Amino acid sequence: MTDPSSRETADSDATDGEEDAIRTVTERIDHEETIDLLRELVRIRSPYFEEDAISEFVFDWLDARNLDPERHPVSEPALTGFEGNNVLARLDGSDPDAPTLLLNAHMDTVKIVEAWEEDPLSGRVEDGKLYGQGACDMKGGLAGIMTAFDALADADLAGSVIFTAVVDEEGPYGLGANQLLRDGITDECDAAVVTEPGPILAQEDIENPALLLGARGRFLYDISVAGKAAHGSQPDKGVNSVADAGRLAAAFEDLAVGSHEQLGDGSVCPLQIEGGGETLSVPEACRLLVDRHVVVGETEDVVRADAERLVEDLDLGSDVEIDFREAPAPDVRYGPYVTDPDEPLVGALTSGVEAVTGEEPAIGYFSSVGDFNYFGHRADLPTVIVGPDGENIHGAGEFVYTDEVVEVARIVAGGCVSLLG
Ligand SMILES: [Zn+2]
Repeated sequence: MTDPSSRETADSDATDGEEDAIRTVTERIDHEETIDLLRELVRIRSPYFEEDAISEFVFDWLDARNLDPERHPVSEPALTGFEGNNVLARLDGSDPDAPTLLLNAHMDTVKIVEAWEEDPLSGRVEDGKLYGQGACDMKGGLAGIMTAFDALADADLAGSVIFTAVVDEEGPYGLGANQLLRDGITDECDAAVVTEPGPILAQEDIENPALLLGARGRFLYDISVAGKAAHGSQPDKGVNSVADAGRLAAAFEDLAVGSHEQLGDGSVCPLQIEGGGETLSVPEACRLLVDRHVVVGETEDVVRADAERLVEDLDLGSDVEIDFREAPAPDVRYGPYVTDPDEPLVGALTSGVEAVTGEEPAIGYFSSVGDFNYFGHRADLPTVIVGPDGENIHGAGEFVYTDEVVEVARIVAGGCVSLLG
């Protein structure tokens, strides 16, 4: 109930009017319904490349609420042979000149980890934590945008919302989000919100409520090292590719990487040396994989030149060819991005956070990569991550804090009202 005196104040002040509109929408988001939905999502097994069941569930859930969902086909014949469906839905605003906001979550999880000591898809709730593989990354955020989108359906917004639940974020190429770019969905949008788990994966030590305004990017070096085979008892007669790859891996660890005021430092991690293995031969050839997380300014050319310089300085006996992991297309890369805090989206989500929690959001930056890099870097949209936290992400015992799931749903709904109202 609104008391008449406060209503008078609200009418006399645009900001209070917005607060009322935010309150109306956020109050439609029910804690129990949101967590029941989350539990249902967690109970559907959906490792990447196996999203048919959850995709149909999300479609049916929206359809049952007359939200006109569509199946958006995703196809990648070249490398993975993957075929699947994103789920899209739209709320068209009344003003064609008002902005359009992309709401995004992924439906897939990592492969189910074997070390679970209970059913990894139980959705069990205890002490405000909901357990299950993918509960935090990111079925909590998915439930959040589903309930937020439903709550916004009756809000009569001037701007528009495009809901996107995508496949294959945890897989190698982010094929679902990539398809949104390929098919021009992101061209229709002015900004993007992704409800990935937040502070736990931030560069900084922060807590929710938080807005993450950028992310580092990533390259995966795929380096061929070609030596010369010889009898293993006479190593001097060969060129040992594995030993050279080891020297190069060690040199990568000492590489001076870029630094950025918001994104922090880049990082390098040698991941794998694969090759050799003959019983008694100097290994002729091997392959070295090195992860490189980058900040703004560390382009492909920079990253390639760094590796070439290391090779040159080491003066190895092997021939070394620097390349990057194969991708479905040259532009399918995770570039770094930073969203300007003065963007209207950041202000709108800040209003959402304040209305829902009474606090100012902490500001941070994501440490690794995800679909948000495609929106923030490739599509060049102001992109903000706001998501519920938990623990044991990608591991056994993964859980999400239920209160934060509901909070994020309300923050997103409130932010939409503020931005698009
Ligand atoms: Zn995720």
